[in-house]
Amino acid sequence: MSLYQKAVDLFQSRVRVHDGPLTSQLVRTPGKFGLGQVPDRVAPDATTAMVCGFCSTGCSLNVHLRDGEASNLTPNFDYPVNLGMACPKGWEALAPLAATDRATEPLLRVGEEMTEVSWEQAAEVFTSRMKAILQTHGPESVAFLSTGQICTEEMAFLGAFAKFGMGLVHGDGNTRQCMATAVRAYKESFGFDAPPFSYADFEQSDVIVLVGSNLCIAHPIMWQRILRNPRSPEIIVVDPRRTETAMQATTHLAISPKSDLILFYGLARLIVERGLVEEDFVAAHTNGFEGFRDHLASFTSEFTERETGIAAEELIRIAELIGSGKRVSFWWTMGVNQGWEATRTAQAIINLALLTGNIGKPGTGANSITGQCNAMGSRLFSNTSNLLGGHEFTNPEHRTKVAKILDIPVESIPDQNSLAYDQILEGVKAGRIKGLWVIATNPAHSWIGRQEFSSVLAELDFLVVQDMYHSTETARLADLVLPAAGWGEKEGTLINSERRFGVVKKVSRAPGRALTDFNIIRLLATTWGCCEMFRRWKTPSDVFQIMKELSAEQPCDFGGIEDFDHIDREGGIQWPLPKGQSPEKERRLFHEGAFYTPDARARFLYESPAADPEPPGGEYPLRLLTGRGSSAQWHTQTRTGKSGVLRNLSPAYNYLEIHPLDALKYGIESGREVKVASLRGSVTVQAFVTPTVPEGAVFMPMHEETTNRLTLNFVDPYSRQPSYKSCAVAVAMVEK
Ligand code: SF4
Repeated sequence: MSLYQKAVDLFQSRVRVHDGPLTSQLVRTPGKFGLGQVPDRVAPDATTAMVCGFCSTGCSLNVHLRDGEASNLTPNFDYPVNLGMACPKGWEALAPLAATDRATEPLLRVGEEMTEVSWEQAAEVFTSRMKAILQTHGPESVAFLSTGQICTEEMAFLGAFAKFGMGLVHGDGNTRQCMATAVRAYKESFGFDAPPFSYADFEQSDVIVLVGSNLCIAHPIMWQRILRNPRSPEIIVVDPRRTETAMQATTHLAISPKSDLILFYGLARLIVERGLVEEDFVAAHTNGFEGFRDHLASFTSEFTERETGIAAEELIRIAELIGSGKRVSFWWTMGVNQGWEATRTAQAIINLALLTGNIGKPGTGANSITGQCNAMGSRLFSNTSNLLGGHEFTNPEHRTKVAKILDIPVESIPDQNSLAYDQILEGVKAGRIKGLWVIATNPAHSWIGRQEFSSVLAELDFLVVQDMYHSTETARLADLVLPAAGWGEKEGTLINSERRFGVVKKVSRAPGRALTDFNIIRLLATTWGCCEMFRRWKTPSDVFQIMKELSAEQPCDFGGIEDFDHIDREGGIQWPLPKGQSPEKERRLFHEGAFYTPDARARFLYESPAADPEPPGGEYPLRLLTGRGSSAQWHTQTRTGKSGVLRNLSPAYNYLEIHPLDALKYGIESGREVKVASLRGSVTVQAFVTPTVPEGAVFMPMHEETTNRLTLNFVDPYSRQPSYKSCAVAVAMVEK
């Protein structure tokens, strides 16, 4: 009998050992919230379609109105994204609007108390206090933190007002936490931040490689698209955990945690060695192959086997599947993006697609799956790390172009890049940044290593939080809370993972005196004295027309989209769509092999693996992995926590998944309280003993605020995205 079996037997005699992750058992019977069920129909004249405001899949939902107000919703059968399906969050999208902790009035801190004030007073306080800080400490003393959760037109207005109107230099977004790595990887490899795929590629692949992606619960509708693939694809899941998705795969590569970069270099070497390189494609459409081939020399099968834990024969089998497959698609998400060498890992995936010519054709691509509903919009139009429309702040021609379109002095556009999110927080901590405006995000919960976050924000002279709820961990620290309307209470566009514009509409009234983010920014711009600068920015539709002009001659050019109605009529429209072109149902990039670099060639980019910033060992012998807990939970649960249905579909407490052998070693019993400690702090959670986590690692979901008290504040040096997926911890039973 193996040691493992002994451990299982021992634990089964003492406590229950579970056959899967905790959430796989919770989501097995979702009842009426199951995927793809036929909904009850209501009269068509009382229904309007709009895209979901949670994740980047961008499903369309039919919202059924009674007396002009949303009363219910059902998934849209006619939309090319979700084809009549929705996940539990989509079904419950209306519930968070009715929460009792909605912010309904502007709130101003007076002493320890938050006091209701009028919008005029709120705008006046915002203006006078921010201006006072800027006058005393200069333009780098105030920053803003934007979001991937509001409409594209709102984030464009926010970024334009903050940088061109208020004169700020620094602003970043919560997309730094999820997509910065993909952005950086694409920009360097393809010349522009351009995810190349359509969801149809899920249905057209022969081999689907999912890396660090628990698609079944994180993007369930995309998983459903895989299930529609008629080609019986090989599904290879690369993940140290036996996730819900790994359980459904044809092959699960259960690599040693954080050995993905070595795995991809090892596979690339095998593809080269076995003559499986698509030489014509590489010669005609790429740069840097020779250097890459030399770089691969040290990634022998023996080395790769030792580092990843995957047997050499299996490595050869996978390399041949990828190298000889006709249609191979690679998909990655946070397991890659949130690592300490994330950018090079994403590019190692891109390199495999380039080596084998798997790009630009049906069922192929090096495809990053986005997180938030409008992370893609943020990447193009938040005016944070890029100048509006995917332009560069440091490029004088770009500044001149944007200034001309907006009819503003070119000097009002910063000629330097913003500090990244972590650098802004460092600036707050060091006292250089004294005013912070946080919009539709909750960093006091979601930022990595949050143990000291409250004390960092306490360094500020003035913290403004603009949010739907007054109760978020961040809003509770604010000096001024600006109550915002939510999804369903305003109009605008969102851009999904496959570059598809979708429309959201007003189907419900915002409570109290909450305003749309668009109107809040308009009010603040007016009070600031920027009426003239933003005279064309009267409605979201107006801003959409300005954004079209800004996209001209960029890879994301969408001058051919007429207006919101056009998007609605077509069932969403993917960029690019230059003027004069007609939308197609599905559109992928690079079908002609032309990339966005100056020589139109994609680049092989690579680097030796970096040292683990906090390897397990000594007092902290286990590696903490974090990730999504269930399909019913969204990030910090600010919204999903408001739905009783979604709460019933997800754990009511934070928990730690631990392997039976580690549980045996550290005396941990399933269902009992355990203390989890890292160098940053400790938390008490419930233990869940399961072999789905590898020995030597433990897993905690990201949705409870406790998890980020443990994580290590370390960022990838290129994308500055935090490395949420790994830090060293110790576990011990809490004494009764
Ligand atoms: Fe679709 Fe994502 Fe909304 Fe679920 S949360 S319905 S997968 S867009």
